[in-house]
Amino acid sequence: MKLLPLPAFQDNYLWLLHDGRQALVVDPGDEAPVRACLEANGLRLVAILVTHHHPDHTGGVAALREATGATVWGPARERIPEPFTPLADGDAVEVLGLRFEVIDVPGHTAGHIAYHCAEVDGAPLLFCGDTLFSGGCGRLFEGTPAQMHASLARLAALPGSTRVCCTHEYTLSNLRFARAVEPDNEDLRAYEAECVALRARGEPTLPALLAREQRINPFLRTAEPAVAAAARLHAGADPADPVAVLAAIRQWKNDFR
Ligand code: ZN
Ligand code: FE
Repeated sequence: MKLLPLPAFQDNYLWLLHDGRQALVVDPGDEAPVRACLEANGLRLVAILVTHHHPDHTGGVAALREATGATVWGPARERIPEPFTPLADGDAVEVLGLRFEVIDVPGHTAGHIAYHCAEVDGAPLLFCGDTLFSGGCGRLFEGTPAQMHASLARLAALPGSTRVCCTHEYTLSNLRFARAVEPDNEDLRAYEAECVALRARGEPTLPALLAREQRINPFLRTAEPAVAAAARLHAGADPADPVAVLAAIRQWKNDFR
């Protein structure tokens, strides 16, 4: 299996997974990079998986479906280009000989879903849209801090070897903020240096490794004393309440330059 992050727009990745003949794509906000990749590699698109309704994740769905006949799956509780097979928590998608389990992850949008496959070439794979980013999380456009906290907790409970396919290259700016929250986190410092080097070579920082996110991502670390203390100092958040800590650092990040 080959996993490719196709760059689109300013900083999106359209994730394409293929076996040399057939392909699936996740959140194709734009059809052009997907069609170019299919042609260059002689692939047939069989499946389109959508995580949430935002245009940068759905803009190419209709054109790709029409051009390829691919089947579209998406969140049952959101409006995306019809027709599609609606999915909710606990459902599964069988495609390319793989089984992707659906996890409800409300927060960024109200009906956002993620797709997790227990094993692709030896390690789990997660397509999580705009819920979990490397070093950060999505903005709360439609959901509450409590929902995002619960969603991130579910993703964080997946195996540490999970490769996290986030939809945006936000890593460097996320890590700059994470350092403001946890200036003494050595793992964070080392990871940031790695990511700076990758970006300097024009390479993606993704997929991210979930085990590392546990050590560096403040939004997965709301119960850590250092993160809770920073949230209290910055915004007066109750350090014993992980939801209040998440709300405080999410707001802090929104205003962080
Ligand atoms: Zn979005
Ligand atoms: Fe997005």
